Amino acid sequence: MLKIIAKPFQEVLLQRKLCVGCTYPLDKANRVGILTENSDLVECKCKRRYVFDRKLGQYRRASLQEEQQYLKRLKK
Ligand SMILES: [Zn+2]
Repeated sequence: MLKIIAKPFQEVLLQRKLCVGCTYPLDKANRVGILTENSDLVECKCKRRYVFDRKLGQYRRASLQEEQQYLKRLKK
């Protein structure tokens, strides 16, 4: 039951552009880099990473794959 309640709550926070961990406004969070043509990687001050979709104007949690993809680019 708890999981069912917890997930929509995180989605509500993201819809409001707030970090799901510390509720810090993601618009003020650190934009660490460009992930793809239409998305940016954003890092909150609590170190959680998000992907900002420029087409939708929305945030979502960055997947581990996306974080690694970004880190690989940094090393080049
Ligand atoms: Zn945070």
